[in-house]
Amino acid sequence: METIRCVLLKQGEIFLKGENRSVFQKKLRQNFERTFPSECGQIRVQPRGGVVVLYPQRNADHLAARMTEVPGINVVDIAVHVPKETGAIVAAALGELRRRFGEDLSAEQRAFAVISHRRDKQYPLTSEQLNRGIGAEIQKATGWPVNLSRPEVSIRVEINFGEAFVSVERLRGLGGLPVGSSGRAMVLLSGGFDSPVAGFRMMKRGLACDFIHFSGAPYTDPSSTYKAYALVKQLSRFQPASRLWVAQLGTAQRTLASSSDPALRTVAQRRLMLRIAEELAHRQRAAALVTGDSLGQVASQTLSNIATVDQATTLPVLRPLVGWDKEEIIAEARRIGTEEISVLPDQDCCTLLAPPRPATHSDAETLLKVEKRAGIDDLVAGTVANLQEFRFAGGHDTSQRTEEPVAAG
Ligand code: ATP
Ligand code: MG
Repeated sequence: METIRCVLLKQGEIFLKGENRSVFQKKLRQNFERTFPSECGQIRVQPRGGVVVLYPQRNADHLAARMTEVPGINVVDIAVHVPKETGAIVAAALGELRRRFGEDLSAEQRAFAVISHRRDKQYPLTSEQLNRGIGAEIQKATGWPVNLSRPEVSIRVEINFGEAFVSVERLRGLGGLPVGSSGRAMVLLSGGFDSPVAGFRMMKRGLACDFIHFSGAPYTDPSSTYKAYALVKQLSRFQPASRLWVAQLGTAQRTLASSSDPALRTVAQRRLMLRIAEELAHRQRAAALVTGDSLGQVASQTLSNIATVDQATTLPVLRPLVGWDKEEIIAEARRIGTEEISVLPDQDCCTLLAPPRPATHSDAETLLKVEKRAGIDDLVAGTVANLQEFRFAGGHDTSQRTEEPVAAG
């Protein structure tokens, strides 16, 4: 009997996209194909109505886990492709259960349910009959009780036109939209907890993200750059390719600080960051900036200061975390694997010249005067001329790569 292990991908919101659906589906396919792990060998892709079936040469479990990191996919089932016969379906279900729970299934009781769907409505058995028939066989082989309302194990059976799929393990995907389907943005990435999460949330809404990090060089050590590098590497799991630019801000920061009231330094500095990020965004055809601001979290994130900062750029500044608490942000950072990097100590450029009491109120007019005194255009141009760039073979499992940041040519 032929059984082939495979992975079923189900898309979420793409289905709401009406006429644009095929564009989104194409983007999604490009993205997940660029993410295929080499450990799985050749992988055949077969779209089947609402589902995409992936047939790897080997290691379907590994492939399934990887697919849970691709935005735009809601549900990932590890499945077996079998002929449309009850005997084959039961045998496949038992085989998968043994794989998951060990050879002796009767050793431990697990409440289960069979959930059948028929795309082939001509199939001689109804879903209900399938559920009962398969359920009875599974019960006979395992001794497990049936529980339809709160099963510990769900056995899913899909009767298609040519074949059936059986799955005993369903993984939750990221959901959201395929990266790139909403355009491109430039993320201001510090070494903290917030901005990596902000970037991730925007990737999930379909933005391809580039990153800029500001170091305090030459007045700080490279620790914050190492963190930014490690963060982008981790975030590259969620999009097909990433780039990071590192700007050395120390000298411009000093000049700006000497032209401003100490209390306004923080806001002045943030505006400088946005101006530089905007320059780079134009070069990269990115149509928005992204920051990790959360309303009221620190002095620079009051409504007044947010307004003043926004007036330094004509690009929309997206702040996906504006309504999030720190705890919520850290919990998300843990889920996406950035928390353990963000927690490392670094020398941050923001603390370099931080005033003891940063102003919570500011206005753009005052800041424009400060910037004029400091010669802001030259500060921006000088910094942009000296950016260091790193590229990430995103999507691919980069965990084998060297940790050492190496600048792209
Ligand atoms: P984070 O945890 O992201 O560092 P934060 O709570 O420390 O945020 P701030 O230091 O006020 O808050 O920074 C607000 C936002 O400004 C950050 O989320 C980030 O988008 C941007 N930002 C701050 N410092 C840097 C930096 N050194 N390089 C790039 N962006 C920065
Ligand atoms: Mg910070």
